[in-house]
Formats: sequence, C-alpha cells, structure tokens
Amino acid sequence: MDSLVSRLKRYGYIRSAAVEKAMLKVDRALFVPEGAKTYAYNDHPLEIGYGQTISAPHMVAIMLELLEIGEKDRVLEIGTGSGYNAALMATMAKEVYTVESIPELAEIAKKNLSDFKNVNVIVGDGSLGYEEKAPYDTICVTCAAPALPETLKTQVKEGGRIVIPVGSLYIQTLYRFIKRKSSFEKSAHGEVVFVPMRGKYGF
Ligand code: SAH
Repeated sequence: MDSLVSRLKRYGYIRSAAVEKAMLKVDRALFVPEGAKTYAYNDHPLEIGYGQTISAPHMVAIMLELLEIGEKDRVLEIGTGSGYNAALMATMAKEVYTVESIPELAEIAKKNLSDFKNVNVIVGDGSLGYEEKAPYDTICVTCAAPALPETLKTQVKEGGRIVIPVGSLYIQTLYRFIKRKSSFEKSAHGEVVFVPMRGKYGF
C-alpha cells in the first residue's frame, strides 16, 4: 500500500499532504471483494459485483485533490460502490453522506465502512442529491452523468466544489464546478471512463 501511495505521489496524482495521509490511512484491500484482494494495490479499477467497479487509485487521488476537502466539511458522494472513496473522504472531512442506488452494494459498503463513524450510507437515487443534509461543502460524483444535475447545483454551498464526470455513456470529461455568487466556475481535468449514473438525471 505504501509503495502504491509513493508511486501516485511521484507521478503527480497526489499533490497534497492531506490526500497522501488519507490514502496511507485507508487500506483499499478492505474494500475489494475476496477474490481480488491480491490486486488491491494495483493502480486499476476492480469489479465489485452488480456490474460496478471501484475506481483506480490514481483516479481517486485526482478527484480528492480537486475536491479540496477541509476538516470541517460536510461531504456528499453519489455512488458509494465499495465505500473506499467515502472512507478516504471521511478521514479528511467532518461528515460524509454517500448515496448508492443498488441496495445490495449499499449493504456491503455499510459493512466495509463500520469503522468509519462519520459516514452515512443512504440507499436511493443520488442524481437527486440528498436534500435532507444540504447544503454541502463538497460533492463528489463517482458515476458518469449526461450533465451536471440541477439538484446538485442547489445543494452545494457558495464556494463549494462539485467534481463530476460528464459526457456520454462511453467517455466523459472530469469537471470541477465551484459555486460563485451567481454562476459556476468550471474547469476540465481530462478524459475519463466511469460507470453510468442511473436515476432521474442519469442515462
Ligand atoms: N465510489 C465508489 C465507486 C463507485 S462506482 C468506490 O469507491 O468504490 C459507481 C457507483 O455509482 C455504483 O456503485 C453505482 O451503483 C452507483 N450509482 C449509479 N447511479 C446512481 C444513482 N443515481 N444514485 C446513487 N448511486 C448510483
């Protein structure tokens, strides 16, 4: 695990001490299925069942750096999957709310996350966000969306960040949106491939 993290740092994916600390703290092996444990420290995505994947560690690092999570942040994640990214964010933030639409995966994630007391796994359509605890300082979307859902725009605080892959079913661009007074500052961060977002604002 330590050598994976030092490689991600050397290649420039990990840029901050905060992301490095989180990635050293959370063991990815705890979040991958039994048969895939030996590949936990390889830098590629892995199947987690139900047609879904845990992202490659470098992709997780890129997103965490863009999110600029602060200690006092309330974070929303769309797409809990294995719970790995939620665990990382939980070590950096005050509290994490993570929405998963496949109930069986949410159950697995809850077990994987039992040591992380500041994470709440919610079963539902995350394309609607999670109004109950809005507004959020940071929103991380780990499934591909056709566009930035309006719901997420209203659920982020001014100065808050949304990181989301937007595009087609086959390829997307990773965007960061920062909410300003009356608009969003948008920047692009490379081409990516994520599993599709389902639900009202999904594909
Ligand atoms: N962050 C995860 C990887 C997620 S893969 C990890 O660290 O392991 C993307 C996940 O998004 C899948 O589990 C998929 O079921 C979920 N998903 C897709 N559409 C969704 C929606 N509308 N609401 C909530 N989750 C969704």
